[in-house]
Amino acid sequence: MSVSKNLEQVKLTIPEKVTLIAVSKTKPNSAIEEAYALGQRDFGENRIQELKDKAAVLPEDIRWHAIGHLQTNKVKYIVPFVWMIHAVDSLKLLVEINKQAIKHNRVINCLLQFHIAQESSKFGLSMVETEELIATEAFNELKNIKIAGVMGMATFTDNQDVIRNEFKTLKNYFDLLKPKIGNDSFKEISMGMSGDYQIAIEEGSTIVRVGSSIFGTRN
Ligand SMILES: *Cc1c(COP(=O)(O)O)cnc(C)c1O
Repeated sequence: MSVSKNLEQVKLTIPEKVTLIAVSKTKPNSAIEEAYALGQRDFGENRIQELKDKAAVLPEDIRWHAIGHLQTNKVKYIVPFVWMIHAVDSLKLLVEINKQAIKHNRVINCLLQFHIAQESSKFGLSMVETEELIATEAFNELKNIKIAGVMGMATFTDNQDVIRNEFKTLKNYFDLLKPKIGNDSFKEISMGMSGDYQIAIEEGSTIVRVGSSIFGTRN
């Protein structure tokens, strides 16, 4: 199947109010252009060098989402153009994003990444850590950051109950944080990938990040 046929199939299964990010990591620019020609504008990448290289040559109206774990020293490469950073899990990272954003006179959309999976390898904050973070003076001084919502990844498992419960947990964190963050832009719940986005949407996802169902399996 071609990228455009896959994309059309996936779009049929996603309500219009949910944002579909086409996760194009490891895939060539030609695959992105094929999706772009169908009107797809949100693309996600997890490696900074690859994201930077692709953004430099692909159409300027693409909204690039940095979806993977981000090291502080790499922030400067993406802040000039990135639309949203999904995996923010420390104050240190926020401070650096803010610093670079000031240099480029931009406000960067950031999602707080939560650790919801059973696996210990996945990055992300706990609710306690987040409450501590947002109570700090340093956090409240970040003027070039827009906290746009939350992001999480479910456990890699066939057990749908486990996945569903983890998504419920993330939705619950979002609901608890909304009044505390207190801005109208705090509205996104980025959860769901190729294997589990249907469950994620049922549990309140507003952004799904779908790679292999659109572009085929990765090596
Ligand atoms: C790769 C990746 C995805 C997409 O995964 P698929 O299973 O190919 O849909 C989504 N989110 C993150 C953070 C990823 O790294």
